[in-house]
Amino acid sequence: MTGASKNSSVNTESFLNKQRILTHKLVCFNLQISSKCFKTVEISFSVLELCFFPLKILKMFQFSLTTSVSVPSFATSYDLSLLLSAKFVVGVSQSFCFSSGNEDFVVHQILPYQSVSVDTFNSKNDVFVAIAQPSMENCMVLEWDHIEMNFRSYDNITVLEAEYTVFSSAVLKCLQRQQAPACSGQSIVGCKAILVGDQVFVVVAQLFGGSHIYKYDESWTKFVKFQDIEVSRISKPNDIELFEIDSEMFFVIADSSKAGLSTVYKWNNKGFYSYQSLHEWFRDTDAEFLDIDGKSHLILSSRSQVPIILQWNKASKKFVPHGEIPNMEDVLAVKSFRMQNNLYITLTRFIGDSRVMKWNSKQFVEIQALPSRGAMTLQPFSFKNNYYLALGSDYTFSQIYQWDGEKKLFRLFKEIYVQAPRSFTAVSTDRRDFFFASSFKGNTQIFEHIIIDLSL
Ligand code: CA
Repeated sequence: MTGASKNSSVNTESFLNKQRILTHKLVCFNLQISSKCFKTVEISFSVLELCFFPLKILKMFQFSLTTSVSVPSFATSYDLSLLLSAKFVVGVSQSFCFSSGNEDFVVHQILPYQSVSVDTFNSKNDVFVAIAQPSMENCMVLEWDHIEMNFRSYDNITVLEAEYTVFSSAVLKCLQRQQAPACSGQSIVGCKAILVGDQVFVVVAQLFGGSHIYKYDESWTKFVKFQDIEVSRISKPNDIELFEIDSEMFFVIADSSKAGLSTVYKWNNKGFYSYQSLHEWFRDTDAEFLDIDGKSHLILSSRSQVPIILQWNKASKKFVPHGEIPNMEDVLAVKSFRMQNNLYITLTRFIGDSRVMKWNSKQFVEIQALPSRGAMTLQPFSFKNNYYLALGSDYTFSQIYQWDGEKKLFRLFKEIYVQAPRSFTAVSTDRRDFFFASSFKGNTQIFEHIIIDLSL
């Protein structure tokens, strides 16, 4: 095992979660091999893979035996019990493959650090994740390990020493002004991956010390500093959103300071340069790029006004004001998603209800209000034609809702505990689906979306 899963508490916790599914979904304990069930716990988790790779059964089996749990008699050779278990696994795998579908989320891996945002990208057929770690001043880049079946450390993008000096004096000033929340060491707010052709960049947005772009360097096999972002107008970045219009690459930084100016940056084949200033003095909290009826739009949410909609003007090649979403003050985040060819948005609110709205070809209309006191994030995502919303909460359990196609509403599906959740990010490998729950105060958790067969 590599990376975070070396930690024994990690193993215990993920084991417990796996065991939990096992005990009520599978019948391991009835197979009179209870003392060897540690094995079958791991094996049962191979099942999802076996569905698609029946020829690899023994190999995977061997893998889980030698790397997972401490039952020495199993670790060395194939014995009778092993074969028994193998049969068992095959049986289970078929049930999995053809089950009518009962979904669940279980903890797959725990990363022993805090995070505020998570981004995912694919490069050369591998799946990567960039995690903004506020307390470490670091973007942690993880890679999906096809063999260990977990996310392992790939690279750290650490702010350079020189920039630390800037950061330190800024923190010092901040401490002198006693702005507690900003002084708690949170500087990095986002790590956003950008792919331009076969080049991989990561934009690192910080509260102090400026924001920078790092580029993956093939010869160094790590991310190296590529450019500073011109930030004369950015004072408190809160979000980075990436988008493409007519094959040109842009990103926007939403600025949440009183004097800030949300700004669009454009790729000019040498770097990213500021392209358009959008929105002054409004303390923007989030930006979302979306296609509405074939036209490019940005929605900006703000502390001081209702969300505004900007539309891309093809002639001037700039965003122009296009409308607003009325009666929705103090929105912290806007996300969009498509479901059965319809366009939806979610609006996150810390006070009052968060909303799900649908585009009705003229405007966004509310279809559901979700009580959300203490919510900093409401994230839509979908796996295998199941649509979900993850609603974070700073005060209680976070909630996962699932779309009910008959009632045409999201209904509560599962509650999970995440300390001070700041983002939920869906990450899919070639065969498995996960979401990362970032936590500002606790461990970052990776949940896996699984399909279980209740008929077993
Ligand atoms: Ca955003």
